[in-house]
Amino acid sequence: MRRLCVHTITTKPLSLEECLVEFPRRGVSGITIWRQALEGLDLRAVARQTHDAGLEVVSLCRGGFFPAASVAGLQTAIDDNLKAIEQAHAVGAPLIVLVCGALPGQTLVESRKQIAEGIAAVLPAAEQAGVKLAIEPLHPMYADDRSAVNTMRQAHEICAALGSPKAVGIAVDVYHVWWDPELKAQIDLAGQTGRLHAFHICDWRTPTTDLLNDRGLMGEGCINIKEISDWVDATGFTGYREVEIFSNRWWSGDQKTFLDKISESYAALYPQDPSK
Ligand code: ZN
Repeated sequence: MRRLCVHTITTKPLSLEECLVEFPRRGVSGITIWRQALEGLDLRAVARQTHDAGLEVVSLCRGGFFPAASVAGLQTAIDDNLKAIEQAHAVGAPLIVLVCGALPGQTLVESRKQIAEGIAAVLPAAEQAGVKLAIEPLHPMYADDRSAVNTMRQAHEICAALGSPKAVGIAVDVYHVWWDPELKAQIDLAGQTGRLHAFHICDWRTPTTDLLNDRGLMGEGCINIKEISDWVDATGFTGYREVEIFSNRWWSGDQKTFLDKISESYAALYPQDPSK
């Protein structure tokens, strides 16, 4: 399926090597690589192996976590993002997804300022490497310690504050933004401004039993995924639909069966996406 991408974290128990074998068998065309999957690996070799497996590297997850309480902390975050840019360049990832960060006890306004400053600090290196950056707004339940950017409107505001450089855009993840009454308008705006850099899908289970690791497979929850996908496509977006599922439930089972289910649920959602 031409637009199906799977994140390595989705099948966390599998090594990257196993992902490169199992993903293509299910018609997956793209792979988003999480940095922990790269530990100890030769990045140039990963780029080659991924290409040989017939997979396109869609993005690297993740950079960000810019806010900090000290100057040294801010610099550590910048250094880590510079390293992520080098890694993305080496594995051939055209994009880094930014989970922007937040600091309990620090105002969200201050954190957003630090996020904008952090992105500005690494932007020249990203531009030079030909790597784009995508701000991913996170659901407000993560506003304490994972991201002070919780809506697409706030992500747009940071892009605008940076002078709307072409390299900086937004990753739309249905899990984080499906509830937003402005969602369609903000997706439209992302299309108009050239900021729609990535689209992530999964589902919201009821009741959610874990704030981080209880995401559902598409169809297991209440998100209007198809409708949001149509809004995204209506902007002219032709990129990947990236399946990003953190789930203790799915991780505890057989990952090959899980990948079969991902492929089936994607095909049911997007019957018009042709097989490769
Ligand atoms: Zn995401």
